[in-house]
Amino acid sequence: MDKTRPTDWKYVSEGGATIVFSYVGPPNPAYDGTVLRLRKVTTDVEDVSAVSTTEDEPDDRIIEYQTRCMERLIPRHYLPRLESVALERRWLEQLATVHDAERPGRRIGKDHIDLTRHKGVLATDLVGGNWIAVEIKPKWAFLPSPTHLSQATKLIKTQTCRFCMHSHMRSSKDCKYANKYCPLDLFSGNPHRVQQAIDDLWDAWERSDGEVNNLKIFSRGKAVRPGQVRLFLLMRYYFITSISPDRIQEVFKKALCDTLLQSPILSIISRLQRMLDVLDIEGLSKLWREAQLESLSDEQIQVLPLGVSQSEPGMTDWVDFVTAFESVEMKELDHDQPRTSNLRYYILAYLLSATFKDCSIIARLGLLKPGNHSEIQEEPIRVIDLDPKSLNRLPRWEELDREIVMSYVPAERKMCVDENIVPSRVASGNGPES
Ligand SMILES: [Zn+2]
Repeated sequence: MDKTRPTDWKYVSEGGATIVFSYVGPPNPAYDGTVLRLRKVTTDVEDVSAVSTTEDEPDDRIIEYQTRCMERLIPRHYLPRLESVALERRWLEQLATVHDAERPGRRIGKDHIDLTRHKGVLATDLVGGNWIAVEIKPKWAFLPSPTHLSQATKLIKTQTCRFCMHSHMRSSKDCKYANKYCPLDLFSGNPHRVQQAIDDLWDAWERSDGEVNNLKIFSRGKAVRPGQVRLFLLMRYYFITSISPDRIQEVFKKALCDTLLQSPILSIISRLQRMLDVLDIEGLSKLWREAQLESLSDEQIQVLPLGVSQSEPGMTDWVDFVTAFESVEMKELDHDQPRTSNLRYYILAYLLSATFKDCSIIARLGLLKPGNHSEIQEEPIRVIDLDPKSLNRLPRWEELDREIVMSYVPAERKMCVDENIVPSRVASGNGPES
């Protein structure tokens, strides 16, 4: 960091544990469009921790998970850049001195930058630049294979997608959450359907006054409220485009649609979700019961809930899993007849699939011309929120799955179309009578 001056960084914000600066110095490909995240320490413990002199300080765990696992599954340029940067005490002291006055009064004197750290995190500044950032939480991308579904759920689950069923359940409890958005439209790759998905996301966002959070819009780091969005777009674009005020929202949505269609990221996420969740939670649960029955001892007379007694995967487990997932042997597994000896593989696969079902993408839009990202120097789309999921969520997910399917008794059943379904699956019993 000592290649930059402390005045090249602008104070952005701080929380209880970290403080964030964004780069505003002279053009520099290493720092343009980035934020620097530094650890803080409370004033009274400063001198106790100052004894640390090690240069082998570990990188933040988030960095390790991204570099050792995620970058093998999603091309690096679609992930926020997270980099460990070397810090020097003298540089940190100068940074602290230069920016202390910009910090909120209630914080000063209470805590400050941890001057003993040798490493900080440099990350892509996704929502804070001179563009409009749209965050979309796309959710479940596929209809499950019917192979492991029970007679009670097969017909429903192979016709209506998980998100649409869940929306139905939510809206029957509170109509504010009514949502016509179907992720299979967004993931279809079909321009007409992707546009439809964006319109539906937008409607749900407006109608719920931003509470349905599958869509968010940011300008210079701040969220734009649905009630302000038209005025905001007009102020932003009125003088630089010839778009009539009535059409501004439509043109913006079209630009978002074109940006998504030009990127392969949705198809990458969809492919990962479906390759990692090949059994459905029902098939996974069946395999779990089988494995439990095989190993049932005299002391244990009852099958444990899904995943209980398994150890929580750590960093090494995740790295090994990704290696296995990419290996030829695992690619050739017969998922129609899963073996209990591969139970751990299927459990970790399901957890990782859940990560991709819950991630968000951020699209950064510059001028309202399709394909024109001149204000954005790099890839306009990034995937965020890729944290690993915990094993102890499995029993709840199994229960929720049952609850969602069983409560799906609408007046008219929604037919969700999965454009990427493997044709052989359709032949093997996806018909309405099966
Ligand atoms: Zn759907």
